[in-house]
Amino acid sequence: MPPLRNLSLAEPSSRLLVLTGPSGVGKGTILEALLARYPQVWLSISATTRPPRPGERHGRNYFFLDRQSFMDQVARGKFLEWAEFAGHAYGTPAGPIQSRLHAGQTVVLEIEVEGARQVRRRLPTAVQVFLRPPSMATLEERIRARGSDSEDSIAKRIARAREELARAEEFDHVVLNRDLSQAIDDVEAILHPMLRPASSREQGPNQAPIKGIKGDGTAGQGRSGSTRSECQR
Ligand code: 5GP
Repeated sequence: MPPLRNLSLAEPSSRLLVLTGPSGVGKGTILEALLARYPQVWLSISATTRPPRPGERHGRNYFFLDRQSFMDQVARGKFLEWAEFAGHAYGTPAGPIQSRLHAGQTVVLEIEVEGARQVRRRLPTAVQVFLRPPSMATLEERIRARGSDSEDSIAKRIARAREELARAEEFDHVVLNRDLSQAIDDVEAILHPMLRPASSREQGPNQAPIKGIKGDGTAGQGRSGSTRSECQR
C-alpha cells in the first residue's frame, strides 16, 4: 500500500474499532445505537459454530457454520482472529474487513476478549474498547434477562466473564456500562474521530493487503503507543 503521509488516520486499521467485553455487557445494544447514528460505519459479521437463536439469520447476525467448515476456514487463513467461547467457535472473516478499510470505511468488530487480543497483535493501530459491567451480579441479570441461553451456557459465560474482566486493563479504552445512554456517548466519543469525511478517503484498485490482515497467518508488528482512557461515569 502506498504511504499516505499527512493524512490523519492514514493507516487503514486505525479506522478499525474493536468493541470487546463479557457476553451480556451490552456491546450489541451500544453498537445498534451507534450504527443508527452513523450508517456509514460497517459492522463486521462473524462466523460461528453456535446454533442460531430464534430470530437470528445466516448472513445477518452471523454466518452459521458447522465445525468442519469453520476449521477449514481457519486452516485457509480466512479469519483475522478466532476464539472458542462457551463451547463454540467464533471468528472474524478477514477479507470483507480488508476491502472496507481500503475503501475508506470505518469498521467495527464486536468480539470477545481473546479475539480482541489477536487483533491487537495483528493490527496494532486498531482502536480497542473494553466495555465493563458495573458488577458481576448485574452482568448475570442481563444474561438471564436475554432469555436466550441455557443454564450451562449462562454458567460458562459467567466463568469466562471473570477471566475477561481481569484483562480489561490491557485495552486502550475502558468504558463502564452502568447507564446505557452514557456508555453509548462514551463509545461515540471514541468512534467519532475515527470517521472520515468522504472527500478524504483513499480509494484505488491496486491497494496492497493491509499488513496483519492478509489472511496468511503473518502477525502484525508491535503495539502502538496509544493513550488509554477510562470512562467510569
Ligand atoms: P453470542 O453467542 O452471545 O452471540 O456471542 C458470544 C461472544 O462471542 C460475545 O462476547 C461476542 O461478542 C463474541 N463474538 C462474536 N463474534 C465473534 C468473533 O468473530 N470473534 C470472537 N473472538 N468473538 C466473537
